[in-house]
Amino acid sequence: MKHAASGCSSRLNMPPADPRQRLRMRRFLMALGAYLFSSLLFLFYVLAGAMSASGYIQVTLFALTINLALLLLFSSGRNQRFSDPSLTMYQIIGGILTLTLASYHVDAGRGGLLLLYVVIFVFGVFRLHTRQFLALTALALVSHGAVLLIVMFRRPEALELEQELLQLMALVLLLPLFSWLGSNVSGLRARLAETNRELERAMEQINALAIRDDLTQLFNRRHMLFLLEQERERSVRTGSPFCLLMLDIDRFKSINDDFGHLAGDRILMTFSHAIADELRGIDQLARYGGEEFLVLLPDTELIEARRVAERLRRRVEKQCRRPGHAAEPLTVSVGVAEYLAPESVWKTLDRADRGLYCAKNAGRNCVSEVVDVQ
Ligand code: GH3
Ligand code: MG
Ligand code: MG
Repeated sequence: MKHAASGCSSRLNMPPADPRQRLRMRRFLMALGAYLFSSLLFLFYVLAGAMSASGYIQVTLFALTINLALLLLFSSGRNQRFSDPSLTMYQIIGGILTLTLASYHVDAGRGGLLLLYVVIFVFGVFRLHTRQFLALTALALVSHGAVLLIVMFRRPEALELEQELLQLMALVLLLPLFSWLGSNVSGLRARLAETNRELERAMEQINALAIRDDLTQLFNRRHMLFLLEQERERSVRTGSPFCLLMLDIDRFKSINDDFGHLAGDRILMTFSHAIADELRGIDQLARYGGEEFLVLLPDTELIEARRVAERLRRRVEKQCRRPGHAAEPLTVSVGVAEYLAPESVWKTLDRADRGLYCAKNAGRNCVSEVVDVQ
C-alpha cells in the first residue's frame, strides 16, 4: 500500500505533497517563465538582425537542456539529495551561462542583455548568502569579459569597444552592489523564517498548556467540555452510546486541614495517576474542579460504565492512602450517567452530578446513578 502511494507521488504530473518541495517547484517554474520571457527578447534581436537564427537556436537548446535537467531533478525528488535542495546556485549558474552564450551570439545591443543579470540575481534573494552572491558575481563578470575577448578576436565588427567597456564597468559596480543588497534581503528572510518557527513552537506550547490542568496535567474542564460536545455529535450521528463518570474524593477538605495544602496536592496527583492507569486508551479523563474528576467513556453503555466506576473506586481504595494514617484508605464517590440522545451534554453532566450526590448521601465510597423518568 505504502509502496503504491510513493510510486504515485513520483509521477511527473502529480504535484509534490511536501510543501517545501512544492515551493521549490513553484520557484523553478518562475525561473522557467523568466527564460521564456528572455527567449522572446532574443527573438526580437533575431528579427532586428542583431542575432543570428543559428545562435538563437543554440541558446534555446542550451536553455532547454538545463531546464529539462532541473525539471527531472525536481519532479523525481532527487533535488533533495543536494545540500541545498532548491538548487538555487545551479539554477543561477545555468542562467548566467545561457546569458553568456546569448551575449556571444549578439552583434549589436549587447548592453540590453546585461539587464537580464539583474533578473537572474533576483532569484538568489530567496536563498543565497553574501559569499555565494559574490562567487556568482565573479562568474558573471569573468564570463562576460571572456565573451568580449572572444568576440573581439573572432568578430571584431560585432563589438563597439568603448561602449562595451563602459557596460562592463557598470556590471562590475552594480552586480556586487546587488549581491550586497540581495544577501541582506536573504538574511532578513532567514531571520523571519526562524521567528515564524519560534512563533509556531510557542503556539504549540500555549495550546498544550491551555487544555491541561497545572497540577495533575490532566485535561482541564474547558477541554473536557469540548471533547464532550464532540462525542455528543458523534453519538447523535452514529447512535453509538457513551457514559460519564463524575468522581469526587471523599472528605478531601480534612486532608488539607490536617496535613496542609501540599499534602492535598500530592494526593490529587497520586489519585489522578491511579485513575488514568485504570482507563482504556480511548477514554478521556479531566480534572473537572478542585477534587472532582470527570471520565468520558466512549462506546460504552450504562451497565459497563457502572462496572468501570466500581473498578475505579476499588483501585483508589486499594492503592491510595490518606496522609498520616497508613492504614486508612483514600476513597472516592462516583456518579454515573449515560448520554440520552438528543439531550445536551449539560443534562448528562447534571445526571452524573446528581448520581454523585446520591453516592455521598449513601455514605460515600460507592457508585450511584439517578434515572430520570422521561
Ligand atoms: P465530600 O466527601 O463531601 O466531598 O467532602 P470534601 O471535604 O471532599 O468536599 P469539600 O467540597 O468540602 O472540599 C473540597 C476541598 O478541596 C476544598 C478545597 O480546599 C480543596 N481543594 C480544591 N482544589 C484543591 C487543590 O488544588 N489542592 C488542594 N490541596 N486542595 C484543593
Ligand atoms: Mg467536591
Ligand atoms: Mg470531595
